Amino acid sequence: MQVVQTSAELKAVLGAERAGGAVRALVPTMGALHDGHASLVERAAAECDTVWVSVFVNPLQFAPHEDLASYPRDLDADLAAAEKAGATLVFTPPVEEMFPPEARTRVHVAGLAEVLEGASRPGHFDGVATVVAKLFALADPRRAYFGQKDFQQLLVVRRMTDDLSLPVGVVGCPTVRDFDGVALSSRNHRLSAPEREAAAVLYRSLRAGAATIFAGEEDPHEVRELMAAIVEAEPLVALDYAEVVKAATLSPPARLHGELRLLVAAQVGATRLIDNVGIVA
Ligand code: AMP
Repeated sequence: MQVVQTSAELKAVLGAERAGGAVRALVPTMGALHDGHASLVERAAAECDTVWVSVFVNPLQFAPHEDLASYPRDLDADLAAAEKAGATLVFTPPVEEMFPPEARTRVHVAGLAEVLEGASRPGHFDGVATVVAKLFALADPRRAYFGQKDFQQLLVVRRMTDDLSLPVGVVGCPTVRDFDGVALSSRNHRLSAPEREAAAVLYRSLRAGAATIFAGEEDPHEVRELMAAIVEAEPLVALDYAEVVKAATLSPPARLHGELRLLVAAQVGATRLIDNVGIVA
């Protein structure tokens, strides 16, 4: 497995791979790799000839008050995990390599980037879309793998890719969960033992929301209220939002019918967690 830090080095590898006709996958990450990331790399390795994993804590997607400085970083462990999962190259650029001081461009996906996470974290998805567009340009992958754990991010990336006619197949992969249903997340490392236990309430609320729809509930407001009440009953967790939306557009459904997505975001101590599930009603 190669480890590359600069776009110049990346270009050299790219030239060699193009000459050999390899189908390349890209798996963008912010590091602190866990089994969720590994599942993306493994799927990419099964479907493509070479798998490039980027490990880059993207400053553009953090607001000034957010956890950029304290975001977990462990490059040695990441290189081992990436290699074990089947990566052929890890791209770990310094910030100046991706966003030199003269850089001025931001990619904005109107609408999709402004609701839910975008409403709670203004500018977040501009940072995501910008770094992903840049990574697509640098790595020129045929396919790129993203987790449904960040469902809104997946939709933003898909929209951006289609809108800009980027020749990349965006693949969404299922959320990998811990024994108690908690979605694996790099940020889970920062939870205390009681917070980690309390975090299970997010997935519990999503399952309860899905169950009430399957049981015949037709009012989106009732579903939101039920999920919110479950999260709010957990003293260590402060709810940001609990929503049920149309999966394709993230817009509020008039009726609970078709492909829906239930999403929650909450603060668990100092750590913000998100989770979601999809259903067809
Ligand atoms: P991150 O490093 O958090 O930016 O995540 C990098 C990629 O891994 C994104 O596409 C995430 O959606 C995906 N990912 C993160 N956690 C999980 C998980 N528990 N299951 C599946 N994919 C995940």
